[in-house]
Amino acid sequence: MVTAYLFSIFLRFIHSFMTNDQVADQFSLLSKLMDIHGENSFKSKSYGISAFNIEKLPKEISEMSAPELFSMKGIGESTGKKILDLMSTGRLAALDEIISKTPPGILDMLQIKGLGPKKIAVIWQELGIESIGELEYACQENRLITLKGFGAKSQESVLQSITYIKQNQGYFLWAEANAIAASIVAGLSQTYGLNTLVTGAVRRQMDTINVIEFVSELTGHQLSEYFNKIDGATVDDLGNDEIKILVPAQPEFLFHLAGTKSFYKTLFLTTGSDEFLAEFNTRYQLPEHPTSEEEIFTHNKLQFIPPARRELPAILEQASRHSLPELIQKSSIKGIIHSHSKWSDGMSTIEEMALAARDQGFEYLVLSDHSQAAFYANGLTPDRIAAQHIEIDALNVKLAPFRVFKSIEADILNDGNLDYSPQVLATFDLVIASVHSNLKMSEEKAMARVMAAIANPYTSILGHPTGRLLLSRKGYPLDHKAIIDACVAHNVVIEINAHPRRLDLDWHWVEYALEKGAMLSIDPDAHSITGYNDILYGVMTAQKGGLTAGRNLSSFSLAEFEHFIQTQKDGKKK
Ligand SMILES: [Zn+2]
Ligand SMILES: [Zn+2]
Repeated sequence: MVTAYLFSIFLRFIHSFMTNDQVADQFSLLSKLMDIHGENSFKSKSYGISAFNIEKLPKEISEMSAPELFSMKGIGESTGKKILDLMSTGRLAALDEIISKTPPGILDMLQIKGLGPKKIAVIWQELGIESIGELEYACQENRLITLKGFGAKSQESVLQSITYIKQNQGYFLWAEANAIAASIVAGLSQTYGLNTLVTGAVRRQMDTINVIEFVSELTGHQLSEYFNKIDGATVDDLGNDEIKILVPAQPEFLFHLAGTKSFYKTLFLTTGSDEFLAEFNTRYQLPEHPTSEEEIFTHNKLQFIPPARRELPAILEQASRHSLPELIQKSSIKGIIHSHSKWSDGMSTIEEMALAARDQGFEYLVLSDHSQAAFYANGLTPDRIAAQHIEIDALNVKLAPFRVFKSIEADILNDGNLDYSPQVLATFDLVIASVHSNLKMSEEKAMARVMAAIANPYTSILGHPTGRLLLSRKGYPLDHKAIIDACVAHNVVIEINAHPRRLDLDWHWVEYALEKGAMLSIDPDAHSITGYNDILYGVMTAQKGGLTAGRNLSSFSLAEFEHFIQTQKDGKKK
């Protein structure tokens, strides 16, 4: 939620880059703020519904005509006009107005897990609390225990959430930071035409970011001129050719100024991690004026190390032996594995999902709607599964050679069992097993639950292994090595969920998984056609872990994939 507010400010100058999710965030924030202020609940609900519908649109609004937008399900002319207004001016008048009446600390509270608008209103009105800091103090003084609608348990969980937020303050998802960085590079080069490139943690494809770094041929004066046009921005010359720029509610921007001659040297020196650079500096030499980064590597008889891999010193050793494998690329993804349709909580029909996948050049779609325990997501009962399979059979006749695979995202129940009987599980081409409920577990409990699911002979893929949501929710605690070892032993594929907020399996574990012989799979977990775009984020994080196409299941061609799941099935005694 924090991002909704942040984007509401930032979009005032990058509105031409607005995505549907960003537009939806504005509507959703408006709805929540109206609830906090106790305004007309019918109106606030309708903004909430608009947000929901915008998020589920089948394509980007920026690619639609006005009549097309107005004709979209759940949009209509009145909402459509507000959206167009927002897209062209970067402002939603009603949202501006309500933000101006709201203390910033109240907006911050929307990030706290389990605190909806109504509860925030109670805290604000009954206790007069207007910031997260005050709220933390009130919890420590046990003042939430007696408050209407709260209790000891909710007080404890509010405190935990505040601790987590404080740890992650100022951090952004890579996807968000990368979009902001790209818009700044574009803006600067449009205005000045000189070279500016992204460097630092964004270039290294870290999953969360608090400083966006750039290497630029611009002068400090030009940067001041450009950023001083933004309300509340400060430009600070740190000396040493470094300029720090702070814009409200944004990650910090750090510019490294470099003339043409030292440009690539600076790019190299600001990209690698400290550890990586320390090792490089002891063993290798920087050429005086390299004209590309490649030249720095060839000068030292090293294989080129992609920015994402410049973390640990050991990679230099591999580069000196020229034994770095070719990293996975987005273009090598051949199938959509893990997707949802209207049958559960997705936004499109199976046919729409399949056609979009085929049009984008994919060879197959693994349809994995939610299972029956996920009642909140309209999970499938055995009767509905049978009906869905009839629909898929017909589609496969119609769309051949493209193929839709019958799958399910089966909940891993509390006791580690999957959500259906073996008879029902046997009807799927493959099964993705995921934890969705009762996420607060001790490591012992979480391990027992997930290990049981891995050992289940029907499990093909372990979905989002830890259930984490970056910057918002820690995953349940797992012994990653034991989980990876078990997946190898039971021939279970480990998902790298590509949603930018999940990126789960974490990249730190990819190398261990590869060493142990695991098969991984970059899966978009798409709930709409636009969800396919998340594959990029999965690839970015997988590259950090050193994943190759050969070890990524979703890079398999249709024939290879068919062969893989058949062999996997044959290998498991059921
Ligand atoms: Zn899931
Ligand atoms: Zn899913």
